[in-house]
Amino acid sequence: MSLLLLVDLDGVVYRGADPVPGVAEVLADRASRGDDVVYVTNNSMHYRTDYVARLWAMGAPVSAERVVSSARATALHIANHEPSIRRVLVVGGGGLERELRDVGLDVVTSAHAATRMHQEGIDGYTAAGSPDAVVTGLDPALTYLRLAAANDCVRAGARFIATNRDPVYPTERGLRPGAGSIAAALEASSGVTPLSIGKPEAYLFESAAEAVGRSPAEAIVIGDGIGTDLAGAKTIGSRCVLMLTGITGPGEVDALPPERHPEAVAADAAELAAILERFAAGSDAAS
Ligand SMILES: [Mg+2]
Repeated sequence: MSLLLLVDLDGVVYRGADPVPGVAEVLADRASRGDDVVYVTNNSMHYRTDYVARLWAMGAPVSAERVVSSARATALHIANHEPSIRRVLVVGGGGLERELRDVGLDVVTSAHAATRMHQEGIDGYTAAGSPDAVVTGLDPALTYLRLAAANDCVRAGARFIATNRDPVYPTERGLRPGAGSIAAALEASSGVTPLSIGKPEAYLFESAAEAVGRSPAEAIVIGDGIGTDLAGAKTIGSRCVLMLTGITGPGEVDALPPERHPEAVAADAAELAAILERFAAGSDAAS
């Protein structure tokens, strides 16, 4: 039985600009032996092909269909499960706009709506052309008027969908506001809680499994975050290999209550390879 591996990117395959030694090779080897490897990330800013060249360069050949960001998962979720949504106002990066257009949605940028509001003195809902939904991601060019446009739309009844609710975004200069902080601002002003697609909610993992025609429950989630990857794996009823190559240290795993523990913990690529070998052999024994 081939494995379905849903693999987080930052903190697992790479840390910022640097590859985590050996992990890409382990995943390339699993893929060459017939396992389904799908890369999943809460990052909402990039288009899926942006990741393909980077993963190839690190030694993990992958097709664009096997990279499912929270932006791609949001687009797939709307296309497959929300047929009444045709026009969306987007507060986010260019990659998010492109993912939404790819599934046939009529995308209005918050920049466009804000310009019309300013020039024509109209409300954000009218300026955006009465969208059915507002989608938020990380928007590095956020302004007050763009937020006001989104606010007007949600207050007028547009569906509020967040790509993810990560409060912070790690950069070389420290933790900056993440997509979740922007969603929180809109939630505060509109009084509406968004549907959130990214980890730890189930939708991102569900879209990733659907992308290769598999069921999320049979997945093995490989990630470095307790509140995102591990929590998301518990939500979809899948197994989790928690990597100690990113944001989580061994002490934090030990401190978890027994029912929250991952099925396995890997400190490096060699341990990951051994764990996956064991799973492939049909043994669920945790290390
Ligand atoms: Mg991570």
